[in-house]
Amino acid sequence: MGLNLVMLGPPGAGKGTQADAFARERGIPRISTGDMLREAVHAGTPIGLAARERMDAGLLVSDDVMIAIVDERLDRPDTRAGFVLDGFPRTVTQAEALDRMIDGRSPLMVLEIVVPTDVLVRRVRGRRVCDRCGANAKPGDASFCPSCGGPFVQRSDDSEDVVRERLRIYERDTRPLVAYYRSRPTFRALDGDRPPDVVARAIREAVAAAADAAREAGRPS
Ligand code: AMP
Repeated sequence: MGLNLVMLGPPGAGKGTQADAFARERGIPRISTGDMLREAVHAGTPIGLAARERMDAGLLVSDDVMIAIVDERLDRPDTRAGFVLDGFPRTVTQAEALDRMIDGRSPLMVLEIVVPTDVLVRRVRGRRVCDRCGANAKPGDASFCPSCGGPFVQRSDDSEDVVRERLRIYERDTRPLVAYYRSRPTFRALDGDRPPDVVARAIREAVAAAADAAREAGRPS
């Protein structure tokens, strides 16, 4: 049975870090639409060129483009044992498309990572990412990435005014996904305002509980 997981949460909730660790642990791909778009921008592809301005302004890239990118990615065989989606879906239209894409696969598990706004703004303002491989700098890291040697920089969309815009867009366009998913037995919300290892443990427990609920729901009554 594949482990098909969506991590929901505002910018700075720790989705990327947690999705990355969880996916490694389970040996399934982490699919970060933000990373895919940043790679497209870096490579100067047509999608990257079209997305750049919206990303820099903290706005969402169009549903059509995002759905096509994820549809193509989920078609690859490495997703058959499962995947962790980080940054997708971000709108109800994307969530509906995702349900269609995974029709016939294991049910989607959805985790919402909840963090107060003031903590998010503080975290994102202080965040540094590797300009080469995209890894997040950890507390105590020097100015260069320990895994690839690239320089740590601030993401162009992590400045305070863009962060506030991204949070506003999250509330308006992405928060409604909680209502979309909440009634499913495989939905869980968890407190992300705790140390990363504590959140990681809570994620493991939530996934185990959601998997039980999914099995229960799939059992004939
Ligand atoms: P992230 O790294 O997930 O914070 O994404 C960075 C930026 O990429 C976002 O602020 C959006 O501009 C764009 N983006 C990433 N994923 C999506 C998505 N699913 N729908 C629309 N825009 C997206």
